[in-house]
Amino acid sequence: PIALDIRALKKTYKGGTQALKGIDLKVSQGDFFALLGPNGAGKSTTIGILSSLVNKSEGQVSIFGHDLDIDPVSAKSALGLVPQEFNFNQFETVLQVVVNQAGYYGVPRAKALVKAEQLLKELDLWGKKDARTRELSGGMKRRLMIARALVHEPRLLILDEPTAGVDIEIRRSMWRYLRQLNEEGLTIILTTHYLEEAEMLCRNIAIIDHGRIIENTTMKGLLGKLN
Ligand code: ADP
Ligand code: ADP
Repeated sequence: PIALDIRALKKTYKGGTQALKGIDLKVSQGDFFALLGPNGAGKSTTIGILSSLVNKSEGQVSIFGHDLDIDPVSAKSALGLVPQEFNFNQFETVLQVVVNQAGYYGVPRAKALVKAEQLLKELDLWGKKDARTRELSGGMKRRLMIARALVHEPRLLILDEPTAGVDIEIRRSMWRYLRQLNEEGLTIILTTHYLEEAEMLCRNIAIIDHGRIIENTTMKGLLGKLN
């Protein structure tokens, strides 16, 4: 099955910037996929469209067979998203952030509490469950965003520059955790502008530049080409 199917996707912002000039991309179930590209390439615009924060101009997007326009509720519930910027409600505690997110997807509260506890323990945040988000370090906030993105048990996890500004120790533990999730069957896509990060984690890769996919291959194939 296809986890993510993007067809002829275009985005022109109101000012006239053509951020996406017709993108086609397929990501298979179980893949660990990198979307690599320099700043301004169109990565965040693509993710913005997937998460319905940005309106597309043209094209189609399906997530596990659910078209974003035709069946947005199913498409969105299949997707977990870790945005680039921290966007917590500063009055919520760590546990509330995760449990309340589950509420938006209609997960029953008892089930959400069990899942939140599991995720916060796995991400080494359980000791901070009653802390306010503004008291957390940057690395803790990143991990909390991952817990929040997983609480409704999505089939596809997308992370936008997940380790930007994170020190190397936290970065390594995040990589380990993501690898483990992928081994358990979760499809993962991450955007990055570090080839090394993609190389560490991903099996397949697309390179985006100036709103176009300029390469779409296996990680091994790409590295072979570069050497
Ligand atoms: P949409 O077409 O998806 O509604 P808009 O064109 O309205 O998006 O842009 C959303 C907001 O982002 C606007 O307020 C705009 O001023 C702002 N913006 C403009 N240029 C940029 C840029 N280069 N990077 C990020 N945000 C920008
Ligand atoms: P990346 O995430 O790869 O750095 P973006 O998707 O943020 O790339 O940006 C792609 C292009 O669209 C850039 O030229 C950027 O300036 C422009 N852009 C991004 N967001 C907006 C916006 N809200 N309004 C207008 N232009 C934007």
